Amino acid sequence: MAFKCGRTRSHGGVQVKHINNFIAGEMVPAQSGAYLANIEPATGTAYSEVADSDAADVGTAVNAARAAFPAWSQTTAAVRSRRLLSIAQGIENRLEEFARAESIDTGKPISLARNLDIPRAIQNFRFFATAILHTQSAAHVTDGAALNYTLRHPVGVAGLITPWNLPLYLLSWKIAPALATGNTAIAKPSELTPMTAGLLAEVCQETELPPGVLNIVHGTGAKVGTAITAHPQVACISFTGGTVTGKRVAQSAAPHFKKVSLELGGKNPTIVFKSADLASAVPGAARAAFANQGQVCLCGSRIFVQASIYEEFTERLVASVQKIRIGDPLDESTQHGALVSHAQFEKTMSYVQLAKDEGGELLYGGQPCPTINDRCQNGFFFPPTLITGLPADCRVNQEEIFGPIATLTPFSNEAEVVDAANGTPYGLSASVWTQDLGQAQRVSAGLECGTVWVNCWLTRDLRVPFGGVKASGVGREGGAEALRFFTESKNVCIAMSDSS
Ligand code: NAP
Repeated sequence: MAFKCGRTRSHGGVQVKHINNFIAGEMVPAQSGAYLANIEPATGTAYSEVADSDAADVGTAVNAARAAFPAWSQTTAAVRSRRLLSIAQGIENRLEEFARAESIDTGKPISLARNLDIPRAIQNFRFFATAILHTQSAAHVTDGAALNYTLRHPVGVAGLITPWNLPLYLLSWKIAPALATGNTAIAKPSELTPMTAGLLAEVCQETELPPGVLNIVHGTGAKVGTAITAHPQVACISFTGGTVTGKRVAQSAAPHFKKVSLELGGKNPTIVFKSADLASAVPGAARAAFANQGQVCLCGSRIFVQASIYEEFTERLVASVQKIRIGDPLDESTQHGALVSHAQFEKTMSYVQLAKDEGGELLYGGQPCPTINDRCQNGFFFPPTLITGLPADCRVNQEEIFGPIATLTPFSNEAEVVDAANGTPYGLSASVWTQDLGQAQRVSAGLECGTVWVNCWLTRDLRVPFGGVKASGVGREGGAEALRFFTESKNVCIAMSDSS
């Protein structure tokens, strides 16, 4: 639903906030003047409006980013570091405001936004701000004849496209390394969750980031995303989102020979062996399945349990999931909030029906939540849902649902579970629960994915490589990988004697 700029709207007497683009240091509406309604998932009603931009706005933003590039790319690492550190500080100074905006926009519990999403965004800026102060470059002496040394240059204007599930967390995970290495950028957050990107633009203004270094263009993937990936002056694309979209991004970027990094979907296994410490494996599997209402690419939505402990584990898991407090995301005690959109709610419902059609048995959940409170009666609430009795190759066990649904499947031995775990098109992450170190090492080596957590889940060190294999993506983010992606290497070869 689009509204024209300037049209007055109010909800309960409250002026609806407009979230505008951030281009060349200014907050500007889309050139068309159009806005999209931004729905609060917990209430199902519009509470803000976001610029409905298109290729014209992307063109203006690219021009701004190009104009800013020469000066920004020539600043010293120390200067860029200070700039990014002040952005981190600017977010931290307004942490509560950011956390509330993220919770309202996504439906996630405010405690999660306050303790995970926003602190991680701050950490992303601090991490890359300091990482660039400690880089090394390679040098090679060629048999006494020449000295080679490698320079790394920023790529140019970076296109950064992110999804709705971890809005500021993922946006900052791209913006920070792109800017730290001397690129300028056009960022496109999901139009479903634009609020914290709007606040970040305010922080960039407050901290006087030079105009055009970061530009944020709001709107749909169909208009803004495609315009960024196809723009000939955007030199690289860092994309996080679904696998189908990732394929389109790759197709659009390929004719321009752009550097592309794709962080895509997952259908991750949680594997619980009989030697596992169930006191940690049970809550670990529950958290892996249902954190952020199951809307984390790394969620463990397929839980494999060794047959001899299957019954006990299942009972304990159901008991643990029953205790998850579903509620208004703004309530401090809530552990499970609303799904991001009505479409996501319907999709989740459809997979419960599909599970039944495929012969599955509901162990827990499976029905929309009863009304939470008056404010939330039209919200998109769906409970943690556990399903059993499905074969590993059925659609529910093969397709990414990206909602609070997990399946439980027994297995008998290592070889069988590694085969089943690898038996989807995806390969993002896995978690393995065992007290047997040899088993942990064997199984980790056999799993086809970018990250294996052993006796933990989502323990993150920003220095490690992060990404997926198969349909879960191309390339790696994190630490040195991100610094490499956002720079091009150039070798300089200097002869060491006249005879060369
Ligand atoms: P999505 O539909 O693929 O969208 C991701 C972003 O791409 C959004 O900003 C979207 O805009 C934009 N977009 C859509 N079509 C585009 C196009 N043709 N060209 C360029 N950009 C386009 O994904 P989502 O539903 O927002 O997020 C959920 C998915 O992200 C899941 O599959 C999840 O696993 C994945 N994810 C992966 C990771 C990871 O690190 N591997 C992390 C988080 C999420 P619109 O909002 O307008 O569609």
